[in-house]
Amino acid sequence: MLTCMNNTELEKIMLSLGESKFRAKQLFEWFHQKKIWDYNQMTNLPKNLKDKLTTQYPTNNIKIVEKYISAIDGTRKYLFELSDYHIIESVLMKYKHGNSVCISSQVGCRMGCKFCASTIGGLKRNLTPAEMLAQVYKISEDINEKISNIVIMGTGEPLERLDITTKFIELINSDKGQNIGQRHITVSTCGLVPKILELAEKEMQITLAISLHATTDEDRKNIMPIANKYTIKQLLDACKLYINKTGRRITFEYSLIDGQNDTVDVAKQLSNLLKGMLCHVNLIPINKIETQSFKSSSEDKIKDFANILKSRGIEVTVRRTLGQDINASCGQLRYNYLKTCL
Ligand code: SAH
Repeated sequence: MLTCMNNTELEKIMLSLGESKFRAKQLFEWFHQKKIWDYNQMTNLPKNLKDKLTTQYPTNNIKIVEKYISAIDGTRKYLFELSDYHIIESVLMKYKHGNSVCISSQVGCRMGCKFCASTIGGLKRNLTPAEMLAQVYKISEDINEKISNIVIMGTGEPLERLDITTKFIELINSDKGQNIGQRHITVSTCGLVPKILELAEKEMQITLAISLHATTDEDRKNIMPIANKYTIKQLLDACKLYINKTGRRITFEYSLIDGQNDTVDVAKQLSNLLKGMLCHVNLIPINKIETQSFKSSSEDKIKDFANILKSRGIEVTVRRTLGQDINASCGQLRYNYLKTCL
């Protein structure tokens, strides 16, 4: 797909079609700067090239099928339809420092985390880099504003196909496109250790977020099947290596489940595990999904948990719950939508 290609790759295609190399630059600008994927609207291309591209290289753009706007905080949640009719979801969050978009990396997910709606129907397929970009472009077009931050924290495990995720980052980062700096991009993983090590070698300036959610292997196995594959020690060792290699601070996501992983003892264990690491903990009140009975910890318990970490020298923030009125947690909107189609 041409929308997944960098300039060098586009030049090769243009030459193979008997066109001049400079058409590559024009195409890249249409796709990634002007966010136009319909060849017929590309006014500086000759008619015969537009026709050739339309038949040989369809761009398969995504379509907004539903949109919800939170009356509380302006968060927008989108359901998109892909060219093969699969449904994915993305979220726009408005902050003082700019617009942040949370995108999906896969249709569904096979990681099986017990508290997560995205994984209920399993993995359908990977997204292409173009389908990841299109989520950002469509939302930017919809609100008619620039997007300044990207979090790859929607449905899917973005490190499973590291090649796809890094291609997306290369394209969204391009100064001939949206020019979103790597420091404004966060990639969240449930902890695929070999992929974390592979990513470390790339020495990117992105923020890596790790879904930890427990302090012992036994507890983690109860909620995250990936813990059967890699121990917390292996995961944290990979994180330390990542920090050494990139100099970047890691974010640990920790979703608090009432009575399970939110006690004073667990908070102390967590601070022991993370002591001395260049990191930051993001506490997330668990969002209840209907297939599970997990309950969110009370506000007081969350505050206590945060204070214990703070008093032991661990940087911590509590994630603001945005879009409470529009099902804004990972995979919930898509899950509810697909249920109504059955
Ligand atoms: N697969 C990646 C990214 C997607 S999930 C990962 O596991 O990190 C983004 C974050 O939301 C993860 O930390 C995930 O564990 C968390 N999450 C998923 N469902 C949730 C829920 N119902 N309540 C709170 N956090 C949830």
